[in-house]
Amino acid sequence: MPIDITQQSLSGIRDAIASRAVTAAAVVERYLNRIAALDGAVGAFNEVLTQRAMRRAELVDNGELRGPLAGVPIAIKDNICTSFGKTTCSSKILGDYRSPFNATVIDRLERAGAIIIGKTNLDEFAMGSSCENSGFAPTRNPWDTDRVPGGSSGGSAAAVAADLCAGALGSDTGGSIRQPAAFCGVVGLKPTYGRVSRYGLVAYGSSLDQIGPITRTVADAAAMLNVIAGHDPLDSTCADEITGGPVPDFNMGLGTPVENLRIGVAQQYMSDSNDPAVNDAVSSAIERFEKMGATIVVVDLPHTEYGVPCYYIVATAEASSNLARFDGVHYGHRTARPNDLIDLYSASRAEGFGDEVKRRIMLGTYALSSGYYDAYYLKAQKVRRLIKRDFDNAFNQCDAIICPPAPAPAFRLGANTADPLQMYMADVYTVNANLAGIPGMTMPAGFTEVDGRRLPLGLQLLGPTFSEHKLLRIGAMFERETDYTSQRPVLSPASAG
Ligand code: GLN
Repeated sequence: MPIDITQQSLSGIRDAIASRAVTAAAVVERYLNRIAALDGAVGAFNEVLTQRAMRRAELVDNGELRGPLAGVPIAIKDNICTSFGKTTCSSKILGDYRSPFNATVIDRLERAGAIIIGKTNLDEFAMGSSCENSGFAPTRNPWDTDRVPGGSSGGSAAAVAADLCAGALGSDTGGSIRQPAAFCGVVGLKPTYGRVSRYGLVAYGSSLDQIGPITRTVADAAAMLNVIAGHDPLDSTCADEITGGPVPDFNMGLGTPVENLRIGVAQQYMSDSNDPAVNDAVSSAIERFEKMGATIVVVDLPHTEYGVPCYYIVATAEASSNLARFDGVHYGHRTARPNDLIDLYSASRAEGFGDEVKRRIMLGTYALSSGYYDAYYLKAQKVRRLIKRDFDNAFNQCDAIICPPAPAPAFRLGANTADPLQMYMADVYTVNANLAGIPGMTMPAGFTEVDGRRLPLGLQLLGPTFSEHKLLRIGAMFERETDYTSQRPVLSPASAG
């Protein structure tokens, strides 16, 4: 193979296959070999779909399968239903679950010729920020395997960073695409609520969840979004032409700078308590945008600090209701010898769910219980409104807001596990986009050295609803001026440790 196919863009891989410079079978094999050699150290995959991926590659090679992603190996977060392989949500309760249907995004990817190479690890039911809540085993950060990849889509982000797939899907309820992408030095895009169908995504917080791409470059994110975005009659919250406008071609205009670009900066996001390297990376990105001719506008987001408490009420309330379906009768794990029906429910759930999931079910049930509903859930909905209004006001003055994805770079495994609140607090810069329904994208913006290891730093761009095309164009402008997205972690089988 003349070029290293694992370093190519999604369209580069597709074109190399289409022009017969390489076969799809060889591409898939190359990735499978990397997974076999390196995933022992990273632990990104719950399941590798070797045989099916090879069969699909043959279809591409004999011309039966075409499309904008023909032959491109893609990894899928394991809370997105596939009618092949398992869909476990990294939970023991769904340890052997096989979905009878595909999520809409899976059908769309496969219609576009993509090859699903495997299912990736996550915090159980997407509840977490480090992948340490996986019911199976934690995933490790390819830049430093003593550190977390972020979460909950940590498996997808680590797989992309370690070149174990060409791109991946994640889901983002409060930062689960953007934060792990930032921790792993790749691009992560959470679309506007409603831009991408949630049909077949195992629900966590239904008013917050969105599926989106995790990729090496901004152009790759656009290429994946192009395939998965758009109306779906199977998801009533998915936007149609009337509510979301026509879906643009996200590849279009990526090479053209946004004219008269106004970038918003909010002091609430550039807190002194952030790791100084995080603020430095964002500040130098701001300077770079200024040099590119952008106007920097100071915006005010006064309700930012209420985001985490508000999110953890709304998300847990919705989770407690969504997870009621896992009762040992309909789905997944069933206790061996129940005494009666109630015991069947409670023992199946007690055995199947991990501690963090149980904590959230209890928090959410409490927040929704009679007598507390007004004090917690109703109040959180009002705060949510204020957070949305902050963004509406800010976007009257700017095209996008630039801010850090998280207060610090990837932390060590175990560093935050003893204190759930500390873990929740670190979601402060991502949850508000979900509460407001707006799109957010994180991308590489530099590196910091900690204990002799290079760790990626990210920046986050937030925009008004349905402005993904603009975020992608702004991100592409930054990418052209820097070389962060081209840098890869050095991983060898020896780093298995
Ligand atoms: N860390 C947040 C949580 O634990 C967000 C997770 C997500 O986006 N799925 O809920």
